[in-house]
Amino acid sequence: MTEQLKMCFDKILPRDFNRPHRTLALGDPARAILVIRKMWPNGSTLRVRFMGGSPEQQSLAREQAGWWSEHANLNFNFNDAANAEIRISFDPTAGAWSYVGTDNLSIPKNEATMNLGFQDGGTSGHEFGHAIGLGHEHQNPAGGLEWNEEVVIRDLGGPPNFWTPEQVRHNVIRKYSIDQINGTEFDPNSIMLYAFPASWTKTGQSTHANEVLSALDRAFIAGGLAYPRDKVPEPIDLPVIDTSGTSASIGEPGEEDIFKFTATTADRYTIETGGQTDVVMKLFGPGKITDLIAEDDDGGVGRNSRIVADLNPGEYFVQIRHYNSSGGTGDYEIKVSK
Ligand SMILES: [Zn+2]
Repeated sequence: MTEQLKMCFDKILPRDFNRPHRTLALGDPARAILVIRKMWPNGSTLRVRFMGGSPEQQSLAREQAGWWSEHANLNFNFNDAANAEIRISFDPTAGAWSYVGTDNLSIPKNEATMNLGFQDGGTSGHEFGHAIGLGHEHQNPAGGLEWNEEVVIRDLGGPPNFWTPEQVRHNVIRKYSIDQINGTEFDPNSIMLYAFPASWTKTGQSTHANEVLSALDRAFIAGGLAYPRDKVPEPIDLPVIDTSGTSASIGEPGEEDIFKFTATTADRYTIETGGQTDVVMKLFGPGKITDLIAEDDDGGVGRNSRIVADLNPGEYFVQIRHYNSSGGTGDYEIKVSK
């Protein structure tokens, strides 16, 4: 007899449909996959608003969100703020899903960013894993899983998921871009993995459901490539209109630099990086480091980033992360001009 499989729908923005996920690899040991361009600044407090749900459902979501904040340098504030970064509905007909990391900021404030249509086992913890930037472990290219595509598409096309073949390919079969993965092993105990039967793989490999964070999940999310408590970057002051630029370097793979600058007038500002290092840049503010204004990967010269934005007076933050974790360190310059 076949157990009905409840699978998570990994929500993605339309602009992401045609580009591969960029994932940060995790040296050793093995662990979950992080989508680097979607990571929150280390030390962020994310506000959460419930859009419905019984006290029991809400309490379960709060408890399992805490599995991550216990280890990661991130806090959740369940204050039901109207403009909360994470907004949770409990529609039982819509499955379980969440947007990933900073993608949550692109969703209209009156819409949910996460749905907990079921909360079996560690489902709420799994969805909060997405909310803080984690992808699906079964899409880890280091997993070496060879799918029986027809069987997977047939099974997930039926109840309770009723996915289209394209949804199955996106959520299960398509692997994260391997060029961003560095020596990662597959973690069969990750909460970001779902259970699937042996008939789904050519090798007859099956996986079991994981209802709590694995040891590697906990170590990874608190580690230097994710949200470490002991390496909160102090914002570096950036002058506006500095033709020589300000030099900075990314010393360790996955390291994050935070800059801040003050816009004294309402104007069009350009923030750009220079050098040979491939970086991903995000602009936040005014005043708050979780209010994303814009992000850019290769909009500048070569692999450099460039953001042009019309800003009101206030304090703004720029987050720089390295695109590639393998050899992804090096010097770069950054400048703000108007
Ligand atoms: Zn998922």
